Amino acid sequence: MGDRAATASVVWDSALLGYDLGGDHPFNPIRLELTMRLARALGVLDGVDPLAPEAAGDDDLARAHEVSYVAAVREAPMASWDVGHGLGTADNPVFDQMHAASALVVGGTLAAARRIASGEVDRAVSIAGGLHHAMRDHAAGFCVYNDCAVAISWLLDNGFDRVAYLDVDVHHGDGVQAAFYDDPRVLTVSLHQHPATLWPGTGFVTELGGRGAQGTSVNVPLPPGTRDPAWLRAFHATVPALLAAFQPQVLVTQCGVDTHEEDPLADLSLSVDGHRETYRALRDLATRYAGGKWLATGGGGYQLLRVVPRSWTHLIATVLDRDVPVETLVPAEWTAAVRTVAPNATLPVAMGDGRDPSFEPWGGGLDEAVDTVVRDVRRAVFPLHGLDPDDPRD
Ligand SMILES: [Zn+2]
Repeated sequence: MGDRAATASVVWDSALLGYDLGGDHPFNPIRLELTMRLARALGVLDGVDPLAPEAAGDDDLARAHEVSYVAAVREAPMASWDVGHGLGTADNPVFDQMHAASALVVGGTLAAARRIASGEVDRAVSIAGGLHHAMRDHAAGFCVYNDCAVAISWLLDNGFDRVAYLDVDVHHGDGVQAAFYDDPRVLTVSLHQHPATLWPGTGFVTELGGRGAQGTSVNVPLPPGTRDPAWLRAFHATVPALLAAFQPQVLVTQCGVDTHEEDPLADLSLSVDGHRETYRALRDLATRYAGGKWLATGGGGYQLLRVVPRSWTHLIATVLDRDVPVETLVPAEWTAAVRTVAPNATLPVAMGDGRDPSFEPWGGGLDEAVDTVVRDVRRAVFPLHGLDPDDPRD
């Protein structure tokens, strides 16, 4: 891409707020609304014309889902019986317009993929997307349709032979891994809290891909309590070398922010500063190893007021090359707007948490708990890509 400035699209339409699981469900669309409000208040979206999606059609949903499952999603709000397929559970309650709202989320990530594939833009971000737990025939983990899997499948049919999917959500990216487990054209890499300590209980180092695709499923299970420096050390000791070896034509990322220390559903201890650092690393990797093409999605994140809006504002800003310094004050107009819905919340004053995410690169030793994970991942995966697991330069 030379030295020209990267071009980017931001997928957004307030209709995406219709993906609302209702009541006290943790997956509350206010996180999206407050993210867009904060990004606008900071000027990150000045001059940006959001890309408003259309709902994905049945042909595209069928890329990742059984027709019978899509039919069940459609009829669930009207059904007086149990439609099965994981629907109507505490995690995945049935809601009005469930099919339309879920298909719109998929349409958003698909619109991002189309823009990138056509060459109109180098990067696109779909914060309503990242529903990585949805399976072929059932809903799971708050996810009805798997927008990531649909978009990757579409890319494979539209000129892309090698797609890398990188998932930094605190939970294992199980739905996307399952969709492409036997497909050597898709490298899936998931960094997450160790499956022995967190739902969905998969994402072990030993899940390496099916026959003919060994090494194209990569899992980096991290101990509870992992902080920014250790997380980034594990990331940099595994991901860049694998991308360099795999040579993807596009990088698709799931950017869940439930790795944050204050997230109520999980136990990693990252900060907003660490999230921002991660997005900058993703951008750098897309530039270096994926021809500059980067499709970023949202994902999990349940500290709705204090964390998600700031971290995903950094994500959008990074995609647009409008990086926001962590010292930047949170605009008073945003704080005032949040006060109207949460008068007693303690709101952040700055765009960072005051943490230093700098880290020591992995050197081959076993100094910290995370280094054992790094060693295990590298020994299991690196030889399958012609890389030396014990050489820190790889
Ligand atoms: Zn998650």
